[in-house]
Amino acid sequence: MVIIGGGISGLSAAYYLAKGGAPSTIIESRPRLGGVIQTEHVEGCTLEGGPDSFLSAKPSAFELIGELGMADQVIGSNDHLRVTFVRRHDRLVPLPDGLMMMVPTKILPLVGTRLVGLGTKIRMGMELMRAPKPRPDDESVAEFVEEHYGREAVDYLAEPLLSGIYGGNPSELSVRSVLPRFVELSAKYGSLTKGVLAERAKAARAHAKPAPLFRTLRGGLGSMVEAIEAAIRGKAEVVTSRAETIERSGAGFRVRLNGEWMEADRVVLACEAHSASALTSGMDGRAGELLASVPYSSSMTVALGFDTRDFARLPVGFGFLVPRKERRRLVACTWVGTKFSHRVPEGKVVARCFLGGRDDAAVLEESDEAVVEMVTAELREIAGVTAPVRFTRISRWQRAMAQYPVGHAERIRELDARVAAIGGLHLAGNAYQGIGIPDCIRMGKSAAERILAETL
Ligand SMILES: Cc1cc2nc3c(=O)[nH]c(=O)nc-3n(C[C@H](O)[C@H](O)[C@H](O)COP(=O)(O)OP(=O)(O)OC[C@H]3O[C@@H](n4cnc5c(N)ncnc54)[C@H](O)[C@@H]3O)c2cc1C
Repeated sequence: MVIIGGGISGLSAAYYLAKGGAPSTIIESRPRLGGVIQTEHVEGCTLEGGPDSFLSAKPSAFELIGELGMADQVIGSNDHLRVTFVRRHDRLVPLPDGLMMMVPTKILPLVGTRLVGLGTKIRMGMELMRAPKPRPDDESVAEFVEEHYGREAVDYLAEPLLSGIYGGNPSELSVRSVLPRFVELSAKYGSLTKGVLAERAKAARAHAKPAPLFRTLRGGLGSMVEAIEAAIRGKAEVVTSRAETIERSGAGFRVRLNGEWMEADRVVLACEAHSASALTSGMDGRAGELLASVPYSSSMTVALGFDTRDFARLPVGFGFLVPRKERRRLVACTWVGTKFSHRVPEGKVVARCFLGGRDDAAVLEESDEAVVEMVTAELREIAGVTAPVRFTRISRWQRAMAQYPVGHAERIRELDARVAAIGGLHLAGNAYQGIGIPDCIRMGKSAAERILAETL
């Protein structure tokens, strides 16, 4: 069994294969495993260069962490301190209380907010009366949100919230793939607000204890990568090399690495879709085309470390988002020590800044000095931070975040059928059915389960 890509998707496939008694070989071009998961410890601070947490609502990450014996290291986001600000007309305005993404569930905070104007407030309130109506098979997030809540809700709620996750444009992203739950609620209730309130009431009746929105590991997500590495040691071999191409060979495949061929009875493609496309085009041109059609965004995180004593007033809340309409380079900023405990020691403040996305891949080409200067200047202007920066860490992620444009689910259905027809080839990764860590773990596990079912 060969797994190409040693990010969380490939590692999950290797873990569940090993658990089922099947050895594997992971081929990873980087000199370390984990893909975009990368934790560093600097001056007592735990810094995440890539993802910093995972959604509690999706169980696969929590399950794997439990199997790795790390359940006691899981921490939740400090939701009692959760206020997120959005930049509007040169000031930071808090997101109104009771918002579920862009869906308002409380009247008073909506009435009082300065984030949207009176017309949008009335429109958002009236949405409660919306009856179910036929909608196209798929449409953009922008069209969907605008139809429910109006254009301003797209510009000042949906766009900044999604930019911080996908680095993508809501006019291109597919609502069916990005917000599938909202599509279901809209079809059933007409009003999204009514749907979200009904779901909440159902959860309350079931006495479901509200979980923190995000979870992470006390020592950083890199500790999960290390735990998987330890769990698969002796059961999975890691080869540090770039897979160059894959061909059919007898009933299986052969993978070329540095000009040498490696035989494989089965292959899991757990690399980015653009890389998978180059590997598979020779076997099935159409599958290669479909893989190449998944767009990717590039992103960059910049951690800036400060000393608490240099602040006249400490930042409040989880951080802020900058809508595209008000953006220069900074897309979002998280105050790490507020969002999670155990990440930043007493006496330090860490800002985790997010740049890039579909509109600004060019920022990855800037020098470290230029990036730090630009981020520091924007933090000063937007959040009034004048404290001197004590340390910095920059992580650049070229074409790492898949985007799901309108029609994505349809194309992935065709791709899955073509890959299934090849036989013995499996896909896992953020290009297909969810970009979050729990989705990637679920897809890696599912690939392993299919292989185990075929072989044992
Ligand atoms: C900055 C950032 C912040 C994020 N924040 C969050 C978050 O907070 N929560 C969340 O749930 N998700 C978050 N995500 C998304 C999530 O982290 C990723 O979708 C997920 O980790 C991707 O895992 P993967 O294994 O599919 O891909 P990757 O991690 O990209 O791994 C793919 C691996 O394949 C290797 N590879 C590619 N081609 C080849 C080849 N030909 N031969 C050998 N190796 C190859 C690459 O080197 C890479 O290591 C974030 C992503 C980024 C970039």
